[in-house]
Amino acid sequence: MITESDFGKPVYYIDGEQLSDFVASSDMTRNGFGYQWENEGVTHLHFSPLDHSFGKALKVSFAKEDGCHLPDADVKVDIAADGSASADGTDVTIIPSRENLYKRNKGLIELDILSNKRALIIGLGSGGSPIAVELAKAGVGQFALADFDRVELHNLSRHICSLNDLGRLKTDAVADCIRGKNPYAIIDKLPIDVSKNLDILEDEIKKADIVLCCTDNNSSRFHTSELLVKHKKVGLFGRAITRAEGGDVFIYRPGQPCYFCLLGSDWYDQSDEEITNEASARRAGHIPAYVSAEDAEAFVQVGLGADIEPINNMMVKLALVELSRGTESGISSLEDEFQANYYIWANRRERQYTNWGSFHNTDGMPTIMKWYGINISKDENCTLCGHKEALATDETYLESLKAMGSGDFSGLNLDDIPGTDSPIE
Ligand SMILES: [Zn+2]
Repeated sequence: MITESDFGKPVYYIDGEQLSDFVASSDMTRNGFGYQWENEGVTHLHFSPLDHSFGKALKVSFAKEDGCHLPDADVKVDIAADGSASADGTDVTIIPSRENLYKRNKGLIELDILSNKRALIIGLGSGGSPIAVELAKAGVGQFALADFDRVELHNLSRHICSLNDLGRLKTDAVADCIRGKNPYAIIDKLPIDVSKNLDILEDEIKKADIVLCCTDNNSSRFHTSELLVKHKKVGLFGRAITRAEGGDVFIYRPGQPCYFCLLGSDWYDQSDEEITNEASARRAGHIPAYVSAEDAEAFVQVGLGADIEPINNMMVKLALVELSRGTESGISSLEDEFQANYYIWANRRERQYTNWGSFHNTDGMPTIMKWYGINISKDENCTLCGHKEALATDETYLESLKAMGSGDFSGLNLDDIPGTDSPIE
């Protein structure tokens, strides 16, 4: 641990698993790489080069007791038989290996179980990107990340990525954010529009333990919903209402009401969905084709990151409870709490929330800044999970989408090439 008296002294870090590999090998010496924040005296040591380095790059030499150092190395690291290391005479801090990385979560969640769970996250915007990283922080070990957009300036205020990621595919940038928390995470990147690659989507849903749909369009939600029902997988759908005045989260559990049942209920209002991005809003039919690019800007109105966070937080909690279901852990009691399948949240008393109670209201009516769980019941006429046999053909499917007023699907451009429709602004 670095204490105040260590200020000014050099500090070194090394990955525990890489170090163990070297100790177990018959090699006496190895060349390595160092990355140093010069003014802070902090150096990270590696046996192989990083894809994207930071700070000043250094030549490092690792040697066991009987090994010889590379004469021109910038840093000489001595490795003792017990696996401890010192760099130019200073003790090296060893970054804990896989099993110890999340040991502080022990008791709260079942780490062995979570590390083998696979989460498919569809949409890596202000919802999906922080959710992905939160799940990684909790110990979820496997991810499939689907999004064909790139990180743009207008994303940054609410996104997990930073200025350094501008222009990158969100799948790549978010994968790096996950690895920053869990270098052992297994991550499959899908820079595609899932609605146009249904075979891939189906494959991924089959492999997933949980699916988190964090997109801003109904097309992907419908396709996801259909496949969740077909393959009996748990799925979560989260979204923000205009300017993040509020939001909602729906959970599909196999055998229970599906997302289509929600759409048919009185609770669901899809007219006021938050519009975060002109291109995707046009694709989803939220902005009519005749509206000029200039005027379309007025449609794009987002809320604060802090207004999205409650929705993301609920998605993460529900996901962890579902992934841990049936195991004894600190969050087991939440299985009883999260019995509803639809949760609504209001950040401020505005528009559709105007008549909601104040925060201090105690008469049981919905108030701002508190979650409300609702049990959406099964719609017996649901085209997806109800008694009616439907979705036999693509035409019935499209008809059912249109009947739900889900925008202009005839305008969906099937030729969109991943990434190319997202100019960097
Ligand atoms: Zn249904």
